[in-house]
Amino acid sequence: MVHNIAIDGPAGAGKSTVAQKVAKELSFVYVDTGAMYRAMALYLLRKGVNREEPDEIGEACQNAEISIEYQNGEQIVLLDGENVNAHLRTEEVSAMASVSSAVPRVREKLLDLQRKLARTMSVVMDGRDIGTTILPDADVKIYLTASSLTRARRRYLEYQEKGEACDLAEIQKTIEERDQRDMTREISPLCQAEDAVLVDSSELTIDETVEKILSVYHSKVSEKDKRYEG
Ligand code: C5P
Repeated sequence: MVHNIAIDGPAGAGKSTVAQKVAKELSFVYVDTGAMYRAMALYLLRKGVNREEPDEIGEACQNAEISIEYQNGEQIVLLDGENVNAHLRTEEVSAMASVSSAVPRVREKLLDLQRKLARTMSVVMDGRDIGTTILPDADVKIYLTASSLTRARRRYLEYQEKGEACDLAEIQKTIEERDQRDMTREISPLCQAEDAVLVDSSELTIDETVEKILSVYHSKVSEKDKRYEG
């Protein structure tokens, strides 16, 4: 039987780290939908599409071929057959992804791919609209958040570890701008699904957050199993 866990939340809440660990614990496959939106953004940037022109974005995205492969448990995003994982985590791509993901034709294009993955295998899928739109029947829905300052501090440390120059206030401002765009867009805005469990990771370690999600999963699944038995 296939089980699905949906984890939504704003940028920098720790979704991908936590989702990967939860997936590993349960032997599920981790699906990073943000990486798909980032690959689409990379495509648009490479094509020189104007980010102020939603029609142009909607038209251009039709020609992008995005697919997913797994190598040693790692999700590889293929853009027109090229492994683009190494190009997805730049500020330029982040900013373009948050603009282009508000374009309905971009979302339609990626929706099928995401649903198909969850139908064929047990997944922990993270993103912005997984619990609300992509997998409304997921066994467990988590809304993972943290204050914008906590999220900015985490990003800041990541940049520092990589030896990249950065400014905390600037990172926090960029995060808040992305939140604002993701939460106020017309199509699939980021919001907590009615039946999602809210987890605020501001004061939690990664392992504590993982434990919390695993306990929600185990209690929901055992409830479900009891209902089937009854
Ligand atoms: O999660 P990540 O930061 O990699 O996502 C990049 C961008 O892609 C987000 O800012 C958001 O605009 C968009 N996104 C989305 N829906 C998803 C996943 C990501 O709109 N399911």
